Amino acid sequence: MNYPMIIGIDDTDSKEGMCTTYLAAVLIERLKIYGTIRDYPLLIRLNPNIKYKTRGNAAIALSLELNRIKDVQNVKQTVIAAVEEMAVFSDENTNPGIVFIERECNEMKSDLALFSLRAVRDVLKISEAENMLVKYGISKRGFKNKRGLIGALAAAGFALTGLSDFTYELIAYREKKRWGISRDIDRNSVLAADSATFPDTWDTVDHENERIVFAPHSPDPILFGIRGNSESAVRAAFSMIKSEPVERYVIYKTNQNTDMHLIDTRIDEVANDRSYILKGKVSKDPISIEGGHVIIKISDNGAAIECVAFEPTKGFRNVIRKLMIGDNVTVYGSVKDGTMNLEKIRIDSLIQKELRNPICCGKRMKSRGKGQGFGCPKCGAIRKEQEIEPLERNIQTGFYEVPPCARRHLAKPLVRFRCHET
Ligand SMILES: [Zn+2]
Repeated sequence: MNYPMIIGIDDTDSKEGMCTTYLAAVLIERLKIYGTIRDYPLLIRLNPNIKYKTRGNAAIALSLELNRIKDVQNVKQTVIAAVEEMAVFSDENTNPGIVFIERECNEMKSDLALFSLRAVRDVLKISEAENMLVKYGISKRGFKNKRGLIGALAAAGFALTGLSDFTYELIAYREKKRWGISRDIDRNSVLAADSATFPDTWDTVDHENERIVFAPHSPDPILFGIRGNSESAVRAAFSMIKSEPVERYVIYKTNQNTDMHLIDTRIDEVANDRSYILKGKVSKDPISIEGGHVIIKISDNGAAIECVAFEPTKGFRNVIRKLMIGDNVTVYGSVKDGTMNLEKIRIDSLIQKELRNPICCGKRMKSRGKGQGFGCPKCGAIRKEQEIEPLERNIQTGFYEVPPCARRHLAKPLVRFRCHET
């Protein structure tokens, strides 16, 4: 007989180093003696707009089948000891949380499904996690202000109730003696792995910007991460990469690149620190501001919102610069301080005509003042109205996205959209 247990862990890393996924990778090894891991370890990205997040706002869940019921306490102690040993307690924003789900019921499943989705889309209070833990008698361990209980419970909730859409990431970790020094990865092998497995893997190389993007530059334990649609695809790419020694690797199932964070609604429903899909009409021509950011305004039903393509989105800004008042668009991104940070855009229709002053004697006629029509400076002819002329647009309708180097963890790349999906 097997004894199931779900472990959720969150908020053990800091901006300076460490990584919740590395802690999970070490833990997976230490827990082997007590049982087996069901399915894949889960890597869950929570709301990317949370102020208190340390880095990628990642939480982890492991589904275990224990061999013996008497190991339950040993497993809990092993997990707590690993967090105490590896979490960065000195960082004020690192507030680890651990939950252990040992039994389930239908009411708990439906409550947790909602709670988990809210942790990705909404802003939760620590007390909401605590209330849920008490209500269902879920055992837990919270450190410091216990904020990590939110993500720990959310990740465990997804392990219990399942992910409607998911991808895989194979994360390879570095030997400890190399943490903090530059990564030794053979560039040509990465390019070869990418071209052999794309589009079943993605975001390994940013071709437009000629950058390898699957390896971080921070001093953390991650060597690189390969994202893809299947275990076989990420394994195939991994097998081709030549690099410094890999200390260990884990294949996670994850909500990365699924757009799970996006709420499909209207502009007048928007709140800060959430992410949305919004439809509207461009109501102000794009402007470029200091720092190379490009801003457009879109309106719908009397409500309006400014949308920004920030400088790091590189070539994506050229698409935004080409929009004009009257174009219909659907925008995808996070809202902060009343402004949307664009992740994707779908151009639904483009203005194809414009009103211009009539041409006479080979030149544009001049306005004679408001309501006075237009006059030709050469021959003196007068015309009442402007004329509709076709407009050259150097852009097509359809989807455009930020390049891989600027992609957020949760954003779904266009390569994952089926042909006719909208
Ligand atoms: Zn004329």
